[in-house]
Amino acid sequence: MGRATHTPNVPERFRAFVAERPGGGVVTGVRELPSDELADAAVTVRVEWSSVNYKDALACRPDGGVARISLLVPGIDLAGEVVDSRSPRFRERDLVLAHGYEIGTSHHGGFAEYARLPDEWIVPLPDGLSTREAMTIGTAGFTAALSVHQLELRGLSPADGAVLVTGASGGVGSVAVAILAARGYEVAASTGKEDAREWLRELGAARVLDREEIATEPARPLEQEEWAAAVDCVGGSTLAGVLRSLRYGGAVAASGMTGGRGLAATVLPFILRGVALLGVDSVQCPLELRTELWQRLSGDLRPRRLDAIMAGEVELDALEPVLEAILRGEIRGRVVVRAARG
Ligand code: NDP
Repeated sequence: MGRATHTPNVPERFRAFVAERPGGGVVTGVRELPSDELADAAVTVRVEWSSVNYKDALACRPDGGVARISLLVPGIDLAGEVVDSRSPRFRERDLVLAHGYEIGTSHHGGFAEYARLPDEWIVPLPDGLSTREAMTIGTAGFTAALSVHQLELRGLSPADGAVLVTGASGGVGSVAVAILAARGYEVAASTGKEDAREWLRELGAARVLDREEIATEPARPLEQEEWAAAVDCVGGSTLAGVLRSLRYGGAVAASGMTGGRGLAATVLPFILRGVALLGVDSVQCPLELRTELWQRLSGDLRPRRLDAIMAGEVELDALEPVLEAILRGEIRGRVVVRAARG
């Protein structure tokens, strides 16, 4: 997308948290950007809320491997009010949300007072969710919903037995626990955080396991059949452990790699137990499915205890330590980012 000329309803300068890559490093901080820094696209949004996702932290690291432009406004999701639209789909004052399509990595994202996006990337805010609640769910929570959707498309139902969620105290994990519990599943949550156990039970986990119980060194290529299904955002030795312990015909929806990109597995779970490894991608998920799942996130996929999942809100100028904390795996639940004030 190119850059646009000035639009009514958008001030000539706006505040944004930016990441810039001079030489080999990354410099981050809040700056005032001119409005022509916004992309040449159909819909201008006054961003009320964004959120902190693992990928945002990667976008601010020299070796993160996700930022494609410099200067970049990170923030892979956003929700707010349309202030200008050249699209027949949206009018001024419509409430909307957007994520994916490389927003916040190849295009300016939600860590700013304003964003301008193509209309085909934008989802109307579903009735029953505020912009703040939508960003409490955010990209991580949408990915949890997409994971549950994939598993259920393959036939999973609560009668099948326990469902394991790994990385359970993080964004994808905590929302997955809360969605599955609300739908009547018996949820087992795996976490590395001793102090998150009680909170995970509040979100609906029937059982909480230590992270190390799943990511063990394999003694055998197949272990006892335990899980009807799993939602995994950790990858690495955790995903390998999940594959070894899925029940006959079970499936794991895999979305992330906080525990590593590699996967040391054998084909035995696939060929002897008929298990499935389902890839989950929220970035290029088609708009139709994206819109449908957001509608369902305010209905039958609504996570339990959104209030408890919300770990806190942060202003643009206080983002840096939160981005560092999520990379260290220290955030419990979801942090929302207040973009525009008032
Ligand atoms: P969070 O940091 O909020 O959650 C990740 C969780 O993983 C942590 O809270 C921790 O949970 C666990 N974890 C962290 N480090 C390790 C480790 N070294 N070994 C094992 N477990 C670890 O991140 P998000 O929920 O925002 O994202 C999770 C992953 O999903 C990321 O890799 C992200 O890029 C990916 N993702 C992918 C998407 C897609 O479309 N495919 C969309 C959204 C996210 P605990 O302490 O409870 O074990």
